[in-house]
This record gives sequence, structure tokens and C-alpha cells, in this order.
Amino acid sequence: MQTYNTDILIVGAGPVGIFSVYQAGFLGMKTIVVDALAEIGGQPIALYPNKYIYDIPAYPKIQAADLIEKLIQQATPFMKDGSGVFLLNSQVLELSRGEDKQFCVKTSMGDTIYAKAIVICAGAGAFGPNRPPLENIENFEGQSVHYFVKNPEIFRDKNIVIAGGGDSAVDWAIELSNIAKKIYMVHRRDSFRAAPASVEQLKKLADESKIDMVIPFMLDGLKGDGKILKSVILKDLDDNKKEIEADHLLAFFGLSRSLGELENWGFKINKLHSSIEVNLPTCETAIDGIFAVGDVAQYEHKLKLISTGFAESSMALHAAWKYVFPDKPFHFVHSTSK
Ligand SMILES: Cc1cc2nc3c(=O)[nH]c(=O)nc-3n(C[C@H](O)[C@H](O)[C@H](O)COP(=O)(O)OP(=O)(O)OC[C@H]3O[C@@H](n4cnc5c(N)ncnc54)[C@H](O)[C@@H]3O)c2cc1C
Repeated sequence: MQTYNTDILIVGAGPVGIFSVYQAGFLGMKTIVVDALAEIGGQPIALYPNKYIYDIPAYPKIQAADLIEKLIQQATPFMKDGSGVFLLNSQVLELSRGEDKQFCVKTSMGDTIYAKAIVICAGAGAFGPNRPPLENIENFEGQSVHYFVKNPEIFRDKNIVIAGGGDSAVDWAIELSNIAKKIYMVHRRDSFRAAPASVEQLKKLADESKIDMVIPFMLDGLKGDGKILKSVILKDLDDNKKEIEADHLLAFFGLSRSLGELENWGFKINKLHSSIEVNLPTCETAIDGIFAVGDVAQYEHKLKLISTGFAESSMALHAAWKYVFPDKPFHFVHSTSK
């Protein structure tokens, strides 16, 4: 439990939050970053670290994990002397404001942060996987049951059950069919909610017996000794059961996302997009001194892209100058002139 005094509190350590550490630092502002996850990197690290991104300016293609590493490198000069500190496994809870207009935010880890302005980069909110309702599934998580793929190598020469019908399930079935001993694709119906080209490829691999399609089936139970899985029990729509020997289960049933306590801070919340309404061009919210940028920021014709978030972050932090340095006039400077 610590108390921090900073210029800018950044909520969310996704790509836009990390870029905000750079942008604030460049403007001479100190930052503290709070994120609910255990790792820096937001969606690109939690959901698709090995995928290539093709629409980051100046990178014809870059793997998601590499993009995050480069963003951290760019922010590193501003991560010293008590600035650019990342408080992970922490959600922001209560917000209050003193007479001096300073914000005071408490976190779920018991820390207190005083800041002159706040930039919310919370994406779609703190997120976690939708768990299939199987008895004792938590005991197998991390070892044999997975909701994200971090290191594909652990699946080499193993029997894998993949459950789900969306892009993640289909893409990983295709990708892992190159290295796994056997892939069983479990889905409750014969149609998939994935890119048509990927579904075609999946069906081709099934025809070549590289993937075993187990349809229409659903997950019903897990068997093993504690953390290590031995088999997965399935049932069909008539409750007929089937047992498949498996070393790993990959369950892709989407994510639950929540803005958590941010919903009670007094913003205009857009329930449909689970996001915060902002005013352009500064991205300031309905509360003076609090900005929202990246996926969490909502306005007409919003595009939820990493590149959009970077631009919003620059606009917000330049606009935050007046809260951080109220007595200093602002002079615009290019990075090439610093
Ligand atoms: C499979 C996939 C592929 C994609 N491909 C592309 C692509 O090719 N190009 C592209 O531009 N975009 C792509 N995107 C979208 C891109 O990932 C997002 O636009 C981007 O991650 C948004 O960045 P962000 O920093 O705003 O939010 P996020 O990356 O969502 O990060 C938000 C962070 O805030 C934290 N947080 C949320 N609420 C709280 C809270 N209350 N307290 C503390 N922490 C909190 C979360 O834990 C998270 O770490 C893709 C997304 C997916 C899922």
C-alpha cells in the first residue's frame, strides 16, 4: 500500500497507455500507470501476441508482441525518477477531487494516487475469458486448460481439444495442426463465426485428416489427476457422451469485459460500445481534467484501431498541459527539435 504523487495517472497499460507514457514524458509530465492484468501490453499481449499487425504506420508488418516491446523501448527514457511506474494486477476504484483540483484515486491493491490529470486508456475494460462451466476447471488452468495461446511450442506432439466456433478457435486449430499430434475441433454446430477463408482452410485440413471435427458436441467434463488433463468428456445435443484423450484443452468462448468502477466516476457511458463519450479534438470527458483515448473513447465515426489511439493520446496529453502546468504557456515542439 503506497501513496504516489504524479502529473498524469494513466489507466490501462495497452498499446495506447504505453504510448501515453512516452507522450507525457516528452512533454515533461510524470506518469503512473495502473492495469488490471499481470502483464503490460493490453489486448495485443493478452489475446494475439504472435499475430502480425499490418496497419501500424512505418511497419509493413509487425508481430503484436514486438510492437509492445518497441513501445516500451520508446517510453523507457521516461520510466525513471518515480515516473512511468506500472502498478499491475490493480484496478482503479474510487475517484475523488480535492479543493486544489487534484484527483485522488484508490486502487484495488490499496494504493492511493494523486494526479493533476487522468488519461483513461482502458480499452474495452478489464477483461477475462468466459470459462466453460466445467467442474474443477480452475485446477487445470495454466497447465492443461488455456484461454489464450502464449507459447505454441507447449502443444508440440500433444493431443489438443479446441472448443469454440469463432476466429480464435478456427485460427489456432489451423496454426497448431502443424505441430500438434492430433487436433480435435469441438463445436455445437456445423457453421463457424470465423473468416470464410479460414473456415475453408479448416475444412480442407479436416478432409486431409489433419484435424478431427467433433460436431455437434459440447464440453461436459474434464478427467485427470489434479492439474494434468487426461481426457475431455463431451456430450451431443441428445446427451450422448464421448471421451477423448487429451493433453490440453483450448477453450475459446469469448471474453467478458467490464469498465468496473470507471462506470461510476461520472462519465457519459456509451452502454452499446462499453466506452466513454469524449469531446473532440481533445478527447476530454464530461469531467474536466479526465481524458479517454484508445478503444475506450467513443465519438461519432470512432475507429477502434491502435493508430487512432496513438493520435488521440497525443491530442489529449497536449490538452492536459493546462492542468499540469497552469502557470506555464504551452509552446508546440516537434520531437526532432528536442
Ligand atoms: C484478435 C485481434 C486482432 C486485432 N488486430 C488489430 C490490427 O490488426 N490493427 C489494429 O490497429 N488493431 C487491432 N486490434 C485492436 C487493438 O488490439 C485495439 O485497438 C488496441 O489494443 C486498443 O488499445 P488500448 O490501449 O486502447 O486498449 P487495450 O489494448 O484493450 O488495453 C486496455 C488495458 O486497460 C486495462 N484496464 C481496463 N480497465 C481497467 C481498470 N478499470 N483498471 C485498470 N486497468 C484497466 C486492461 O487490463 C488492458 O490491459 C485487434 C484486436 C484483436 C482482439
